[in-house]
Amino acid sequence: MLNIVIFGPPGAGKGAQSQHIIDKYKLVHLSTGDILRSQIAIGTPLGLQAKKLMDKGELVPDDIVIGMIRYKIENAQNPNGFIFDGYPRTVAQAKALDEVLSENKTAINGVISLEVQYNELVKRILGRGKDSGRSDDQDIKIIENRILVYNDKTAPLIEYYKKQNKYHSINGMGTIDDIFKRISSVMDKF
Ligand code: AMP
Repeated sequence: MLNIVIFGPPGAGKGAQSQHIIDKYKLVHLSTGDILRSQIAIGTPLGLQAKKLMDKGELVPDDIVIGMIRYKIENAQNPNGFIFDGYPRTVAQAKALDEVLSENKTAINGVISLEVQYNELVKRILGRGKDSGRSDDQDIKIIENRILVYNDKTAPLIEYYKKQNKYHSINGMGTIDDIFKRISSVMDKF
């Protein structure tokens, strides 16, 4: 199996690059943000609970997202591998992911981290908000909070994966195609 984490702050282009990666490498795409938004759309209790936090740009509790990811991994039908997008976002989530994968006799092959300047992140998120109507992409205060939360809770994962020799930093500025070429040249060596 080929399992990768696509990593970076909100607006780094994780979702757009995931689409290219799943086409080329035939991986199962697991985006916790997408799963949570689908729970909100169908109005489950979990969705309602998550929405309050997402609307403020705060993280949803670890036990909820860990449970969702575990369920998706254990119920995938003969996957070639997974691409984790927007997960893990805390060290506890990363540890839980390592555990679940090891129980399923597999592991993370590598982490692809997209490096994008702050101003560009904000610009991309606001642009996406206009197209998608996502409320957390339209308010500058929420966007700033999401980037703060990333720096505080998620950036420590850089050290976590560097220690495992799995961390690969990619220049995330430029066109989607150029960035995808950079990602492919790293992934082809996994
Ligand atoms: P995203 O679509 O990845 O930008 O996620 C949108 C929002 O969903 C985030 O701001 C969080 O509120 C929530 N969320 C998504 N993934 C996670 C996660 N792994 N842990 C906690 N909260 C998450």
